[in-house]
Amino acid sequence: MPREYKVNLYLNHYRCPCGAEWSDEWDATCDDRCPRCDTSCSPYESEDTGTERRPVPTKALEICAKWVARFGLGFHPDTRGAQYTPALLADDIADYDRDMESLFALDCDPYAVAVAVMEDFGLIEEENEQTNA
Ligand SMILES: [Zn+2]
Repeated sequence: MPREYKVNLYLNHYRCPCGAEWSDEWDATCDDRCPRCDTSCSPYESEDTGTERRPVPTKALEICAKWVARFGLGFHPDTRGAQYTPALLADDIADYDRDMESLFALDCDPYAVAVAVMEDFGLIEEENEQTNA
């Protein structure tokens, strides 16, 4: 069964100096390219449109599982319970960097995936989500 992660969605409204106006739904209040002139524009307004569940890419789970298996909670310095960034052997650094680059390029929240994998490993307890959030 695929793991899922929750994303916050925003309906962003953009207005380009060229006069074009458009709206798009994204999982962040991010910049977008003008459909007319390709200028990068920041939203002048963003509406919170709720949350959506998306499947976690298998590749992301594989990468996280690989490093969680080695480093546990120390896998990521921002993870609950981790007090340090693991010291890597020189040979591992390139491997780790390459994997993190792949992980962050995937369409997912790497932090959420890491936490989900740690739950699978029994390292942390599953968070009780507010159903009315
Ligand atoms: Zn434009």
